[in-house]
Amino acid sequence: MRFLITGGAGFIGVTLANQLISQGHTVRVLDNLSAGHAELLHTDIHFTRGDIEDKPKIWRLLNKVDCVYHLAARVSVPESVLYPREYNQTNVSGTVAVMEAMRDAGVKRVVLASSGAIYGGQLVEKVHEELMPNPASPYAVSKLAAENYVHTIGKLWDIETVSLRIFNAYGPGQSIPPIHAPVIPAFVQQILGHGSILIHGDGQQSRDFIYVDDVVRALVLAATATGINRETINIGTGVGTTMKQLIGAIEEITNQRAQIIKNPSVSPGVISLMADTQRAKSLLNFTPQVALSDGLAMLIERDPQFQRVSTESLR
Ligand code: NAD
Repeated sequence: MRFLITGGAGFIGVTLANQLISQGHTVRVLDNLSAGHAELLHTDIHFTRGDIEDKPKIWRLLNKVDCVYHLAARVSVPESVLYPREYNQTNVSGTVAVMEAMRDAGVKRVVLASSGAIYGGQLVEKVHEELMPNPASPYAVSKLAAENYVHTIGKLWDIETVSLRIFNAYGPGQSIPPIHAPVIPAFVQQILGHGSILIHGDGQQSRDFIYVDDVVRALVLAATATGINRETINIGTGVGTTMKQLIGAIEEITNQRAQIIKNPSVSPGVISLMADTQRAKSLLNFTPQVALSDGLAMLIERDPQFQRVSTESLR
């Protein structure tokens, strides 16, 4: 098949693009490199630097494409609180631009990378797709709006659409920006480098962490599965891990003690977010394969950022 991946130079996009190439597909990537790393893409991938709102560029890239993976987005929850307009521009207007270009080019299918963040706080232990979304940040609102645009425009213009609500993905290649870094790579870096870990709230907040290879397997299945048009599907493990448990797991793998600083005055966000995984099983035949302890071990072993930190910490 021939694919276009928007945001394909990002953390999930690179793993997806390289996986599709290894399966013999033709892969094009469009990414403005605001956060991505094109050098991590396999040399057979056709990379174009550009913005998802650059219509002429995206028209050209969509020529004879069977399926679009729309991953390009701004992805930080705390940053979205500071810059909601920018998040709306990229994640909502950008998504509409991709859908318009798909209509013009006659592309038949799109898989949207949505987010478990759209659920916000809920009264159930595991969140399922029928729940009323309760987004708690501009990022979550923007992903919900993107889902609605993709499904509605798809229906109007006869484009097959599926939204995967990805929970907390982790794995090699995830960037660690100096502020608002994702929790797993930030904790691993601090523990390996003997720095301090700052926990917001009491550390009892829990998240559903899913290894990037599992996320990519679900994305690959979504490109060809039948009977999933207009569906919204959770991609998580169904297992919740508190921040304290996460730190314990990293300590065990690295054989290092974490220095923890608690800041109860900062909100930890939603207290618990765990996926109900039934629909992914029934519609995609998808079950995650990687347990958190194995995923953390692979992350530390494979991510060059941590090999550097751990070597330095041994000196
Ligand atoms: P990422 O930031 O590594 O990747 C996003 C990519 O999009 C980056 O390479 C960036 O350069 C590119 N991009 C941003 N704005 C663009 C624009 N206007 N035009 C072209 N390219 C642009 O993030 P990621 O973690 O790989 O996330 C990929 C997708 O999955 C996003 O849509 C995100 O919302 C979704 N998602 C991720 C997670 C997670 O835990 N990583 C969880 C839920 C959903």
